[in-house]
Amino acid sequence: MSNAAAWREQDGVAVLAMPALEAPGGVRAFFTGRRGGVSPQWQGGLNWSYSVGDEPANVVENRRRSIALLGLPMERTVMAGLVHGNRVVAVTGEEAPGPDAVRFVPDCDALITDRPGLALVVTAADCVPVFLYDPVRRAIGAVHAGWRGTVAGVAARAVAAMAEAFGSRPADLLAAVGPSIGPCCYEVDDAVAEPLRTYYGDFAGELLAPGRAPGKYLLNLWEANRRDLRQAGVAQVSVSAACTACGVDRLFSHRAEAGAAGRGAAVIALV
Ligand SMILES: [Zn+2]
Repeated sequence: MSNAAAWREQDGVAVLAMPALEAPGGVRAFFTGRRGGVSPQWQGGLNWSYSVGDEPANVVENRRRSIALLGLPMERTVMAGLVHGNRVVAVTGEEAPGPDAVRFVPDCDALITDRPGLALVVTAADCVPVFLYDPVRRAIGAVHAGWRGTVAGVAARAVAAMAEAFGSRPADLLAAVGPSIGPCCYEVDDAVAEPLRTYYGDFAGELLAPGRAPGKYLLNLWEANRRDLRQAGVAQVSVSAACTACGVDRLFSHRAEAGAAGRGAAVIALV
């Protein structure tokens, strides 16, 4: 793991912070680990998802603990209802709350805001979370980019949406590619490789390494998103290089846990 990400523990909850984003000040950005929660199937796991067989009361408590790290109540949290697409929504904190007070925006994979004291959340357990911060215009974004979202250009669309909504200049943006399945572990077949080749053209050759069998490839979604962000004009992109599958003792991984994983949360807030 590079110094682009650092484990930090606060009130018993371990999170992987994004120091490259936080360095200028005015923002908090982290990805929650699996420890420090109350979900018994993961031995006190900090699961964020209602859809993985967890007790709803556990999820509520896990979410509360995570957001409390920012000193914020749950109603100051806005969460994206992920669909592996590229829709970006600018949020204000006035969105309708769900049963646990967290505000929920359906059918989108990226949230942006310029409101301080509002936590943006996308959940993941292998998919790539991308954090965006504009320290000049004071705006942020949280992006969920699995392979489908990546080839739908969701990261670049979020950059464009920040420009349109807040006047953010891409060159001012700081981006961090968060913990997710790495090129060490993310083996895919042609059903994934083909859309990658279509989207990236020749550059796909740098994203797809030979896999362990014919027709299999090791996909580098970190570099794919870094490339997209750079193409969108973002000057600084840090990659946490934290593989969820390699780091399954500390992070949830859909692949490494054979689909029985909880979900972590990528959290970013202007403070
Ligand atoms: Zn790995």
